[in-house]
Amino acid sequence: THVVTEPCFNCKYTDCVVVCPVDCFYEGEQILFIHPDECLDCGACVPECPTEAIFYIDSVPEKWHDYIALNAEMSPKC
Ligand code: SF4
Repeated sequence: THVVTEPCFNCKYTDCVVVCPVDCFYEGEQILFIHPDECLDCGACVPECPTEAIFYIDSVPEKWHDYIALNAEMSPKC
């Protein structure tokens, strides 16, 4: 899965959401989240993010590892 991290906070762009083929972005109050079971790992959203907030799960920088669990928790349950 891909993971949304800290630089997304208060970003108003939704370029990532638009390109996602499976519509797996969900909106929090100030940040977007990616549903870990729905993401296809296509990578299309990564270059679209103006703040470089989206990473493949294994490439999430150490300081933002908490966001892996947060994306999962904040996504709607199936
Ligand atoms: Fe959507 Fe692809 Fe990004 Fe996953 S990697 S959130 S499927 S655009």
